[in-house]
Amino acid sequence: MATELAVHKFLQEDRTWQLKANCLGVDPDLFFPERGASTREAKEVCRGCIVQQDCLEYALTNGEKFGIWGGMSERERRRIRRSRALARRSGGAATA
Ligand code: SF4
Repeated sequence: MATELAVHKFLQEDRTWQLKANCLGVDPDLFFPERGASTREAKEVCRGCIVQQDCLEYALTNGEKFGIWGGMSERERRRIRRSRALARRSGGAATA
């Protein structure tokens, strides 16, 4: 049942933003560097991407734990998730 719900959710999501991604055709390995390797090149690709915010929200919503999404590393996204969780708990709005 959980799998069916996950598949249903996956099919319902609007991912048309991916068609406008700067990283289309770019080597995916660039966005999933080995631990400790530079993320600079991937972030350069993201910097000019018009769907950067959609990408970041997708990663945050879906709990993407690995890789560069929306121009942010795993650590940077964790920081945003924590900040949002704290804001939710305190009834305020997070800034990122
Ligand atoms: S923000 Fe970066 S990873 Fe996300 S779609 Fe754009 S280029 Fe690709």
